[in-house]
Amino acid sequence: MFLHILTGCNLSCSHCYINTEQHGTNMLEKQQMEDWIRLFADTKKRTNIIFLGGEPTMHPDLVHGLNVARQCGYDITVDTNGYLFHDFLERVSVDMLDYLSFSLDGPDPEINDPIRGEGVFETCTGNLKKAVARGFNTSLIYTVSSRNIDHLHRMVPLLDSLGVKTFFIQVIGLRGRSAQAGDDDKTAVQVDPQRWLEVVPDVAARVSELGIEVVYPKVFLDGDEQFECAGNVAENFFVFPNGRVYQCPLCEDYPVHSFEIIDNRLVKRLGLTEENLFSLDIAEGCVMNKLLQPETISYDNQGVPHHRISCCLVKNRI
Ligand code: SF4
Ligand code: SF4
Repeated sequence: MFLHILTGCNLSCSHCYINTEQHGTNMLEKQQMEDWIRLFADTKKRTNIIFLGGEPTMHPDLVHGLNVARQCGYDITVDTNGYLFHDFLERVSVDMLDYLSFSLDGPDPEINDPIRGEGVFETCTGNLKKAVARGFNTSLIYTVSSRNIDHLHRMVPLLDSLGVKTFFIQVIGLRGRSAQAGDDDKTAVQVDPQRWLEVVPDVAARVSELGIEVVYPKVFLDGDEQFECAGNVAENFFVFPNGRVYQCPLCEDYPVHSFEIIDNRLVKRLGLTEENLFSLDIAEGCVMNKLLQPETISYDNQGVPHHRISCCLVKNRI
């Protein structure tokens, strides 16, 4: 359960995927947050809940949400931009959280701050160190774009010095603010598939040699690998404060959500929704990738795609 408890944020990152037209501008009320956490709780299954925003630590009732999630038996992660508002570290104990995850898009302020904002590198790494010193399990998320892929290898010594347990490498998507950029800007930030394959697996292997777990998207399927859409074979719920519930993150810029929360009940929507796309079987793999970013797919002279694109929710973990 990816629970966006608000869409507001103190930062304005260039690749932010929050789209307030589609996801609302409200903040969940305290009771509403509690009810929605209980709505998705299932004691028969192991379930992860990830508290997101916007910036979730800006929500005054985040700690209450964590307590409710603990009572419900969730594995709990909070994804933060590193600002840790409302004295977050002073108000939570190590046993209330399984992971505190920080976002950083460069190994130094020169690379990170033009993407995430001035002064963000210092604040984020400073608070990450404090969290590690207090015994929290921490992870770090790096969103790869053409603006920072050449600096990914320099994360290896930084990760070693910070003491994070898990390193998540993400690929920039065409959602939210990236999707609203002009066509030239979109192409400018996207990563060339060949460059991704040259850089990312190698850096991931080097980080893992430090004893740090690394998780990165599969992106391209090998010839004999089976394609599966998470919308058909997994249970993921991307919940927004306006009540929309998606199963596929690539659909979040469109009003095609599968469910809506109405009066604290999860209501399946009728008509055209993302579920209609999950059943389509195409040679290119992921249907939403083909619709949103067809330029990422190349073809041979028979019209057969060179690679099938995997579901964006399929990850390599080393
Ligand atoms: S990417 Fe995250 S930290 Fe950056 S502006 Fe968006 S919500 Fe805030
Ligand atoms: S990213 Fe593609 S394959 Fe994955 S859930 Fe969405 S439509 Fe399905």
